[in-house]
Amino acid sequence: MSIPLHQAFRVGAYVVKQHLIGRKRYPLVLMLEPLFRCNLACAGCGKIDYPPEILNQRLSVAECLEAVDECGAPVVVIAGGEPLLHKEIDQVVQGIIARKKFVIVCTNALLLEKKMDLFKPNKFFSWSVHLDGDKADHDKSVCQDGVYDRAVSAIAKAKAAGFRTIINATLFDGADPDRYAAFFDSVMDMGVDGISVSPGYAYERAPDQEHFLSRKRTKELFRGIFSREKKRPGKRRWEFNQSGLFLDFLAGNQTYHCTPWGNPTRTYFGWQRPCYLLGEGYAKTFKELMEDTDWDKYGTGNYEKCANCMVHSGYEATAVMDSVKHPLKAAMVALNGPRTEGPMAPDIPLDRQRPAEYVYSSHVQKALADIRSRKTQPEQESIDA
Ligand code: SF4
Repeated sequence: MSIPLHQAFRVGAYVVKQHLIGRKRYPLVLMLEPLFRCNLACAGCGKIDYPPEILNQRLSVAECLEAVDECGAPVVVIAGGEPLLHKEIDQVVQGIIARKKFVIVCTNALLLEKKMDLFKPNKFFSWSVHLDGDKADHDKSVCQDGVYDRAVSAIAKAKAAGFRTIINATLFDGADPDRYAAFFDSVMDMGVDGISVSPGYAYERAPDQEHFLSRKRTKELFRGIFSREKKRPGKRRWEFNQSGLFLDFLAGNQTYHCTPWGNPTRTYFGWQRPCYLLGEGYAKTFKELMEDTDWDKYGTGNYEKCANCMVHSGYEATAVMDSVKHPLKAAMVALNGPRTEGPMAPDIPLDRQRPAEYVYSSHVQKALADIRSRKTQPEQESIDA
């Protein structure tokens, strides 16, 4: 596991404190999306197909920091859209660091070399560069040639400048375990500080619906990849920026229930219900999100849209809480890696899940009506492309 010790200690202390004060649901990672606009149009993305008026909106620095304070999570992940398109993103990052929160900026790296000088290395700050595989796989995933090479160049520059730099990879159906094992070796050779992996979630609005993974295929794929790590004598172990028990869950060895409140999401629309992946309504405040969301309606086994989900934003918090409750189990997985053979843990039955509801257009239409009525829509120049 590549999570720095000081981060693991602070997050662990935070989790213990939440248990001691008897808090049943608490956030671990705030997903902050200051804008939806992106400079790529990936086939598996469910975030960028909003009307231009919405793509032109952004959260101000004050709104971002208010969200950080309201939520109180020890880790903030800034995603989007492409965060480096936000003109004041450096001020957002500085404000979060000043609060002694860990901040990770997810970027496709197309603007990273140009904007890197706006940031300074800091033990609370990491870049997370999107890389979905080797050159062929990544350029195909982001639907544009040359993006892999630019990302690799930016990673080298970030590392040379002293930034903690990880990569995040989303895996889709048809992924080849041999190629992914070679890819993970190659990113370790680049000197990255960690790898964050997740199976792609089947966003209902993503252009490519054919290549999302079922839970069974996800577990088989990750077993296939992790088993290859053990067959590389003399090679450095892959460093993942995730808890060992989350990786063990991906390999089918844990029956975890989703804890979507662990990764609350703040976007232009408000606090997103129930999670980073589903927008089924929005709360005005974090308190309202936590108290007024009917959490039992969501998660695998409860809701049709959650049936195939094994994404970190639903299950990493579950794994971290389990690690704190069962440190010996967590230590064994950290030492030996996820088990890749033998029976899998039972999965959650789906026979009682409620059917999917489709609410996308209602909140988009409401936001559009609000924007038009305010007549203060920022024009394109508010976005520094
Ligand atoms: S299982 Fe959890 S994280 Fe996944 S879509 Fe459902 S609520 Fe969101």
